[in-house]
Amino acid sequence: MDLLVVGGGPAGLATALHAARAGLDVSVWEQRAGIVDKACGEGLMPGAVAALSALGVHPPGYDLRGIRYVAGPRHVDADFGAGPGRGVRRTTLHALLREAVLAAGVRVDQRTARHVEQDQDGVVVDGTRAGHVVAADGLHSPIRSALGLNRPRRARPRHGLRRHYSLAPGATTWRCTGPARRRPM
Ligand SMILES: Cc1cc2nc3c(=O)[nH]c(=O)nc-3n(C[C@H](O)[C@H](O)[C@H](O)COP(=O)(O)OP(=O)(O)OC[C@H]3O[C@@H](n4cnc5c(N)ncnc54)[C@H](O)[C@@H]3O)c2cc1C
Repeated sequence: MDLLVVGGGPAGLATALHAARAGLDVSVWEQRAGIVDKACGEGLMPGAVAALSALGVHPPGYDLRGIRYVAGPRHVDADFGAGPGRGVRRTTLHALLREAVLAAGVRVDQRTARHVEQDQDGVVVDGTRAGHVVAADGLHSPIRSALGLNRPRRARPRHGLRRHYSLAPGATTWRCTGPARRRPM
C-alpha cells in the first residue's frame, strides 16, 4: 500500500481522494462506523466549497453570504469576498465524501490505529506496512501525540455545542429539531 490515511473525517477523506486520483494505492482507517456526525457549525467557507467542487463533490445546502457575530443587541456582519459559502449538514458532507472515496477504489476499514513505527522503507501501523501515513485523526490527534509532535496546549479547555433549529428564512421564531451535541475544541 502506498498511503494509509488514519482518520476518515473531511481531511482524511479528501486526502485519500486526491491520492487515489493521483494513482496511489490508498486505505483509510476510521475507528467509527458509517456516517460520522460531530458538533459542527455546518458552514463551508467559500474556499471549502471550491476545494470540494474541484474534487467533483457538490454537497447540497444553502448559500451563505457571510458571517454575522451577535452579542446581545449588537452585531457585526462580514460578507465573503470570494463567492458564497454553503450551509451543509455534516452527515451529508461525510456521506458524499465517503461515497466518492469508495468509488475511487479506496478501502475504508473500521479500525483504530494504535502504534506507528517508521523505518527506512516507510511506516508500519499495527503491523500493516505503508509507504506513507497521513495522520488525519482530528484536532487532538492521538498519532501526533504518540510521535511527540504536540505543541503546548491552551491552559483552559474549550467546548463547542451544536443544536439544530427549524427556521424559515427571515423568521424570528424557531423550533428545536434535534438533541444538543457537545465537542471539545
Ligand atoms: C464546535 C465546532 C464547530 C465547528 N464548525 C465548523 C464549521 O462550521 N465549518 C468548518 O469548516 N469547520 C468547523 N469546525 C472545524 C471542523 O469540524 C474541523 O476542522 C474538521 O472536523 C477537521 O476535520 P478532520 O478530518 O481533520 O478531523 P475530524 O473531523 O475530527 O476527523 C478525524 C477522524 O479521525 C478518527 N480517528 C481519530 N483517531 C483515530 C485512530 N487512532 N484510528 C482511526 N481513526 C481515528 C475520528 O473518529 C474522526 O472521525 C468546527 C469545529 C468544532 C469543534
